[in-house]
Amino acid sequence: MTMPLSAAASAREILVRLHDVMAARSNAQAKLNQVVEIIGEALDSEVCSIYLLREGMLELFATRGLEQGAVHITRMAIGEGLVGTIAANIETLNLAEATAHPDFSYRPETGEDKYHSFAGVPIVRRERAVGVLCVQHVEPRRYEEVEIEALQTVAMVLSELIANAELVDDDAGYGLSAAQTGPDQLRGLTLVKGLASGQAVYHQPRINIEHVVAEDTEAERQRVFLAFDKMREQIERMAGQAEFGVGGEHEEVLETYKMFAYDEGWARRINEAIDSGLTAEAAIERVQQRTRMRMRQIDDPLLADRMHDLEDLSNRLLRMVSGQLGTAASMGLRNDAILIARNLGPAELLEYDRRRLKGVILEEGSLTAHVVIVARAMGVPVLGRVRGLRGLVREGDHLLLDADQGTATVRPAPGMVEAFEARFAKSRERQAAYAALRDVEPMTRCGTRITVMINAGLRDDMPNLALTGADGIGLFRTEFQFLVSATLPQRERQPRLYRDVLDAAGDKPVIFRTVDIGGDKVLPYLRHDDGEGEENPAMGWRALRLALERDGLLKAQARALLEAAAGRTLNVMFPMVSEPWEFEAAKAAFDKQLQFLRNQKKVLPEAIRYGAMLEVPALAEVLDVIAPKLSFLSIGTNDLTQFLFAADRSNPKLAERYDWLSPAILRFIRRVVGQTRPFGIDLTVCGEMGGRQLEALALLGVGIRRLSITPAAVGPIKELVRKVDLAEIGSALDGWLAAPPPNLRGELQAWAAARGMVLD
Ligand code: PEP
Ligand code: MG
Repeated sequence: MTMPLSAAASAREILVRLHDVMAARSNAQAKLNQVVEIIGEALDSEVCSIYLLREGMLELFATRGLEQGAVHITRMAIGEGLVGTIAANIETLNLAEATAHPDFSYRPETGEDKYHSFAGVPIVRRERAVGVLCVQHVEPRRYEEVEIEALQTVAMVLSELIANAELVDDDAGYGLSAAQTGPDQLRGLTLVKGLASGQAVYHQPRINIEHVVAEDTEAERQRVFLAFDKMREQIERMAGQAEFGVGGEHEEVLETYKMFAYDEGWARRINEAIDSGLTAEAAIERVQQRTRMRMRQIDDPLLADRMHDLEDLSNRLLRMVSGQLGTAASMGLRNDAILIARNLGPAELLEYDRRRLKGVILEEGSLTAHVVIVARAMGVPVLGRVRGLRGLVREGDHLLLDADQGTATVRPAPGMVEAFEARFAKSRERQAAYAALRDVEPMTRCGTRITVMINAGLRDDMPNLALTGADGIGLFRTEFQFLVSATLPQRERQPRLYRDVLDAAGDKPVIFRTVDIGGDKVLPYLRHDDGEGEENPAMGWRALRLALERDGLLKAQARALLEAAAGRTLNVMFPMVSEPWEFEAAKAAFDKQLQFLRNQKKVLPEAIRYGAMLEVPALAEVLDVIAPKLSFLSIGTNDLTQFLFAADRSNPKLAERYDWLSPAILRFIRRVVGQTRPFGIDLTVCGEMGGRQLEALALLGVGIRRLSITPAAVGPIKELVRKVDLAEIGSALDGWLAAPPPNLRGELQAWAAARGMVLD
């Protein structure tokens, strides 16, 4: 055999011949027959075969070298034999001895027993295998890298041919087996609870590559060149927007993006693919496919993350070169939609029309992913970690998302829809009953007014105040604004947001928490000095610790808050205070900005109230020292419990292990209630614990009278409050905490049930 000089030359030679075949007027089957001849000849292989997916099976459609009688007879299931394995894993196999592979399955009708070497590549369309192209050889030898690359390129051409000729019988669901066109159940991890029904919408609409083989290679090269330029420009612009007055940090912002955008290896591989005769789109896709195949073999999550970034950029480039720029958000949602994505950024989620966006299903995602934090605030249910998601769901499929149970049904049968609707209606009824409590005050049965506030973090959360009738915003997580930005928000955007929030709240108080980033809320552009990840980020350089060190950030925020609250009351709360001096240092930063504004003769806030979050147990030991300096204290039970139990709040393995209804936590909080009472400061619980009925009942029992909770919980908590007699639950808890029963949750539940309270 004459060894080709390069992958490009080898592939180009084949493509030139394929081009003629494609342009001819013959039918698809005739074209396939010619294709196997061309490839077999070019690669000097006795056998070349094409298997295509039909009715969920990989069917031999054309072959040179195998028995012709096997054509349209030999069929393999996905995952069966070498061909099925290639399709199932979307991977390339290159074997000197086919029979030595554990997945080898012998088909006597093909007469393939005399061939030893085997190489096969998947024919991919829309990220799914729709067929397999393979070559076989008598002589046991592995195929050269250049030959494999040539095969991969040819596979792309075939994917175009197949699509045009509609050879794969499923019009939309390429790669879907017959079984997968019926109902299917997806399982995943509940990231945000809730029910939703809607049509599957892919966040990144698939770009249909119309033409694979180039007419004019030079023109294609130019198109890629321009797209690269445009993409780099876009990234530079993003970096340029990161002006916030923090010395140099934003330099790090798009480091990874930039690294890839200017990566010569990547550009070179795309150019090589163009050299081999592909169009710009096909070349980008071709390189991306290879990256994807590599990603599948990488077990290192850090590296996989990097590859993920490269994939994002590759998509961006593909969209630029093809002029199809928008995500599904920019095209607008036409119906109730369930968004499908591998992963999603928080900003991208916010671009969707809230009225139409009913749910999100992700292939990746974790409880602490930024997008999940934001979705929770938006009240959009999210199911994450659904394996093989994009292979199971097609654009436009009807989906029933039940994030409460961690499942979703694709293409449900009518009976399933009915059952789901019934459940959904019940849940809506409950919501409506809660909504009716909007104007009802949370007064206990014994006549004590409980303060029920909500947690928020974005401008869009503000309508919840009126919708729930809550008493104010007990926790405004200012870092949300940072999480939704790819870059540090511009200096002038902050006061505007805070002013809008205060306007929207009217007479109701808003407690602004200064940025709590670091830990599980990592900002790509604000890294630790050494750029390394931390081993224990939750206990690491985060929240006030970070803010006091990077004081430009705190300074800018202090100025923004003070300006925004001109003429009104400003409530500021510092997160993760561990020692009193940290509180004082943070307050001093505000004092300095206040002085600055005073010198500038600016209108100042009418009053400023400073508070701290109690999240680190050590602070509870020095309440007598810090309390006189505070206007309020807020217990962040999310972090507090993680530190009390030494259990990472974002570790799913520990999620169910320790109960909020434990004597340790309840005794702790009861003690804090007692120790702060003499100082007359407001004491609130603002963690997730307060939003659950049974937990809230226990909190009332240990003396908590103020809660700040997720908006959806306001109704259920008001309903609970109205049934409670504080003396009664107080003495019940005193009893249990004096001599803790083995199952406090069970006791409390039974106690409540005996009084006609059915609580979650
Ligand atoms: C908490 O820790 O309980 C809290 C309310 O803050 P976050 O969840 O934002 O850490
Ligand atoms: Mg916290």
